[in-house]
Amino acid sequence: MKIKIGLGYDIHRLSRGKDLYLGGVKIPHPAGLVGHSDGDCLVHALIDALLGAVGETDIGRLFPDTDPAFKGIRSTLLLGKVMSRLRRCRVEVLNADVVVVAQAPKLAPLIETMKDTLCPILGVARDRLGIKAKTNEGLGIIGREKAVACWAVVLVEEKAGKKA
Ligand code: MG
Repeated sequence: MKIKIGLGYDIHRLSRGKDLYLGGVKIPHPAGLVGHSDGDCLVHALIDALLGAVGETDIGRLFPDTDPAFKGIRSTLLLGKVMSRLRRCRVEVLNADVVVVAQAPKLAPLIETMKDTLCPILGVARDRLGIKAKTNEGLGIIGREKAVACWAVVLVEEKAGKKA
């Protein structure tokens, strides 16, 4: 049995008139995140943490933003694809912890809904996923509501008998 850690980071620009998706949840807000997919930088950071934990490449190489197949795709579907890939290699998530930094909207009331969405995809109990929402104290591009950033760490367990 091997325990491995992975780290992910992502930042996306906010643009008025777009739908906002964060943590797999559609959130009512006048601005949404710009991206080839639905722009869900929380899920993207989680995906990069998972890929990093198993020494794989990053989300951009796995799901290129030049591929029309991924245009507008829900990031939770991409997370599901990554989890299937990990499970084929007998890798399971032990726990994950996420910090999302957004000046607005207030994300704290939505964290339980994000967990409802993400825990089943990750295959973890609710106490194995941490999500913390912070503002940027009004500072910088995040503070001016121009962007949302996210950091994620995951711990995974590689079961014996992993396929080559
Ligand atoms: Mg991204």
